[in-house]
Amino acid sequence: MSATMPLRPNEMTVVTDQERFEAPPGDVTGAADVARWAAFRAAYHRAQACEDGDFPLQLDFGLHASCNFRCPLCVHGGVARPPESFLPFETAQRVIDEASEYGLCSVKLNYINEPLQYPDTLLRVARYAKKRGVLNTYFATNGLALPTSIGLHLIDARVSKVMVSIDATTPETFYAMRRSNRFFTVVAHVEELLNLRTRLRVTWPLVRVNFLKTNVNMHEADAFLARWRGVADSVAFLSRVGVPGVENDFALSDQRLDRNFDEFHCALPFKLMVVDADGSILPCCTFGGRSMPLGRTPEMTIREAWTNPKMSALRALHQRGGFRENPVCAHCVGAKEPSMIDKPFAYHKPSADGLQKITELRLGFSEMKAIIERNCPESRQRAVALTELETAAMWAIKAVVFNDPASEVAPGL
Ligand code: SF4
Repeated sequence: MSATMPLRPNEMTVVTDQERFEAPPGDVTGAADVARWAAFRAAYHRAQACEDGDFPLQLDFGLHASCNFRCPLCVHGGVARPPESFLPFETAQRVIDEASEYGLCSVKLNYINEPLQYPDTLLRVARYAKKRGVLNTYFATNGLALPTSIGLHLIDARVSKVMVSIDATTPETFYAMRRSNRFFTVVAHVEELLNLRTRLRVTWPLVRVNFLKTNVNMHEADAFLARWRGVADSVAFLSRVGVPGVENDFALSDQRLDRNFDEFHCALPFKLMVVDADGSILPCCTFGGRSMPLGRTPEMTIREAWTNPKMSALRALHQRGGFRENPVCAHCVGAKEPSMIDKPFAYHKPSADGLQKITELRLGFSEMKAIIERNCPESRQRAVALTELETAAMWAIKAVVFNDPASEVAPGL
């Protein structure tokens, strides 16, 4: 696979038939829009080489924060699942309005969530984005909720691309990767969408099938390529990124990832920003983005977030190839230095919500301390009880910050 599909610089994804994605989306035909698309792709390639721009080339929206799968390699399969929240349509609308002033060309309709759980929201935002001049709308999905009825709406809303994560060629490997028995349903949904497009004689949405490379499924990578190349519009092989709070044995060795860490500069903070379901504005679209929030809409505009000193510092870090200096990036890329402070021992700056919970815990533990002191005679037992109470307080506080996706891990390092 790697012989025919070389890794592009600064990418964690290898893609077949990339030229289809370079071309204007199927519904973009007017001369002015075709020219806008060409300018967008040129800017995208400059961003790929870590060149700064005035405004993100793409905005990603986490329209809600949940998933209908519990994959072991995702926050939704771990203990640190984000609380359910929904981005109000008006917020997405306001952000798109701001971005359209800068000629935004691309919107992704998901972040770390399954967007087809709430297809009405997805379609509403997709339609609005198109209305405001966005040329490219797309999303990634696990494909479970992608029947023909949804496909019809996607075509009607002129959604440009759908990326379906399948990760396997057999139900057994699919189960190992996704903890789901619905392999054949997902495959059927992809085929139905392709057939529907042919039947309706439209060229959108383009359909890409994804394969996340891990040591659990890597033996099926070649078969996956053979199964889907020429059937789907594109086949992508993704390298796994680190997931905060999720450590398991799915990781491939660096050699098998074909990745040259010494030449790696993450291009994502040069291309895009994310608006998460709780309104947080994030600097990149991987799991690590949630550990580096820049602010929140509507208090902060996208332009303010893009020019925020934290965002500029992140871009400067990647321009000089210093991703190892940032523990979030080092963990994301998977090149954690042995000397790097591991997450359980790192400093966590609580989020505003976390701080509130911690204060409540501190009050509760203080009250319990007073109760013990009031009722227990001075003794070794009382001393042990107070010591254990302190220990319990420390663990409870750590439980809050450690499992809060909005808490910052070792900021500034
Ligand atoms: S966490 Fe860092 S390395 Fe990972 S995608 Fe974000 S900016 Fe890039």
